Amino acid sequence: MKMLVTGGAGFIGSHLNEYLLEAGHHVTAVDNVSTGHLSNIKHLLDNDKFHFVQDTIMNQPVIDDLVSRCDIIFHLAAAVGVEFIIRSPVNTIETNVFGTEVILQTAHRYHKKVLIASTSEVYGKGVKVPFHENDDRLLGATTKSRWSYAASKAIDEFLALAYYRERNLPVVIFRLFNTVGPRQTGRYGMVIPRFVKQALDNQPVSVYGTGKQSRCFCDVTDVIRAIVALAETPEALGEVYNIGSTEEITIADLATKIIDLTNSQSAVQHISYDKAYEPGFEDMRRRVPSIDKINHLIGWQPTYSLTEILERIVSWSRS
Ligand code: UDP
Repeated sequence: MKMLVTGGAGFIGSHLNEYLLEAGHHVTAVDNVSTGHLSNIKHLLDNDKFHFVQDTIMNQPVIDDLVSRCDIIFHLAAAVGVEFIIRSPVNTIETNVFGTEVILQTAHRYHKKVLIASTSEVYGKGVKVPFHENDDRLLGATTKSRWSYAASKAIDEFLALAYYRERNLPVVIFRLFNTVGPRQTGRYGMVIPRFVKQALDNQPVSVYGTGKQSRCFCDVTDVIRAIVALAETPEALGEVYNIGSTEEITIADLATKIIDLTNSQSAVQHISYDKAYEPGFEDMRRRVPSIDKINHLIGWQPTYSLTEILERIVSWSRS
């Protein structure tokens, strides 16, 4: 089949391209390389079945042409990373809202199936874990830029579901929890690539806040398997699925684990949220997915433990 991957030069997009190519599909990746990078896909450029278009998803004639020629769209292009979002809120909202609008309108014009990447950020600072797809959401004030990301991705979800219900567009929404693996950059704030780099450089490992906040990290390979299986399952249409690991770790323990794994001389350095992000920054204490829904549908669950994930990332970073 002919697959279109928006955000195809990003960390997750590049792994999705590889998986789809290995499965024998033709893949066109579109990316404006704002947070993505050509180095993520340079090894694919010689593949006859791979085609790369450097452009923004907001360029409607280009998207019209690409969508008209594909069978399935994987819409991953979005503003990513908490630091990036706080630095560039206009870009975040416009890319996430207008960009997704262009994708959905065009998919509707040609009646193409769309998989929409959403995020666990949409759950906001709710404290009742694990998060189920139909849970209420609790977002902070509009004066705190962080929440613009959650609100903009929630609009994407509303719009996609509206196209499904009102205009019969075949859509599936997946909410990604913390996804990690080789090729992820720490430039936009993501914690594991930052800690691994700091530890390998024997520099202080920057734990924000008390470090008692926790996350569950899922290997990108497991995540891609879930996304592609959802695309192949007709019962997934019109539904929202969490994709993530349920193995929880505090950020302070993560720092220690990475220091140990790398035999690093680094010390842990605590930095206040205000200093790390912006005054009044709000973090979520815990973020744990319920993966019952996707597990019941396709039997999916993560296969990599956190230790295996970190070992993979450390060996990639070393090389
Ligand atoms: N974090 C940290 N040090 C860093 C980067 C992030 O302590 O150098 C913390 C961050 O405040 C959050 C957690 O690690 O509590 C996960 O951050 P990330 O940006 O990777 O993902 P998200 O906040 O979206 O879960």
